[in-house]
Amino acid sequence: MTDETTAYTPIPAEIKDGFEIRDVHFSYNGSDTEVLKGISFKIKAGEKIAFVGQNGAGKTTLIKLILRFYEPTKGEILLDGINISQFNKQEYRKRFGVIFQDFFKYEFSLRENIAVGNIEEIENDTMINDAAQRSLADQVVAVMTGGIDQQLGRRFAKGQELSGGQWQKVALARAYMKDADVIVLDEPTSALDAQAEYDVFERFIGLTKGKTSIIISHRFSTVRMADRILVLEDGIVAEIGTHEELMAAPQLYEQLF
Ligand code: ADP
Repeated sequence: MTDETTAYTPIPAEIKDGFEIRDVHFSYNGSDTEVLKGISFKIKAGEKIAFVGQNGAGKTTLIKLILRFYEPTKGEILLDGINISQFNKQEYRKRFGVIFQDFFKYEFSLRENIAVGNIEEIENDTMINDAAQRSLADQVVAVMTGGIDQQLGRRFAKGQELSGGQWQKVALARAYMKDADVIVLDEPTSALDAQAEYDVFERFIGLTKGKTSIIISHRFSTVRMADRILVLEDGIVAEIGTHEELMAAPQLYEQLF
């Protein structure tokens, strides 16, 4: 159904039920090792779910399948009951605001880096400034001699390098540029400075208000704000439930924190 010549199923204008991950298996190309070994769970519309687990458990892979960077080798992922492979991939991706761990750093201007979230609005100063303000990227703009049109990157004579914390604010601004239905955050493992981290996190919470969100985090404070927590262990769902439910059963979750 992903063939260009095939008619796509329209994506629901509004997500009503949410996602269902149904017995999903996955191996990376050319590998016999299953990274996901039969994963099943639901993400309700408007729910905030956190994926936790040891390094290599399969959290990022699972998000990449939901974003359609890869297809499950077996099983299916449904959105409001429709297999996501039936949607036009670009249209489908437009519904997501993604803030990735190794977020994309482009050697473009600050404006372009923010507008990547919604490139049609690249000349819309009101919208860009608004996104920058909400994400704290306005602080980055303020310290650049070139302001919003500052060239970024070492390769340019007047190019300016950003710190990890500054890049994160820019990544967040991108997500604010679009009215995404689903917000995905893969939190950096390497710590930014504590204050910057707290500030960005606060803004992130603002962004996810009323929206379906998927969060990968290693930090207890972040995980706590999720409605439910999915504990992955070596490619299977070890536990799923609210923080209270998981704390009540002395298993993996408790050990992780
Ligand atoms: P987590 O996000 O929980 O740390 P990942 O989903 O990144 O886990 O990784 C799960 C497993 O898949 C790991 O064993 C990892 O080495 C492997 N893996 C991740 N990306 C690739 C890739 N592009 N090709 C092959 N194996 C990969």
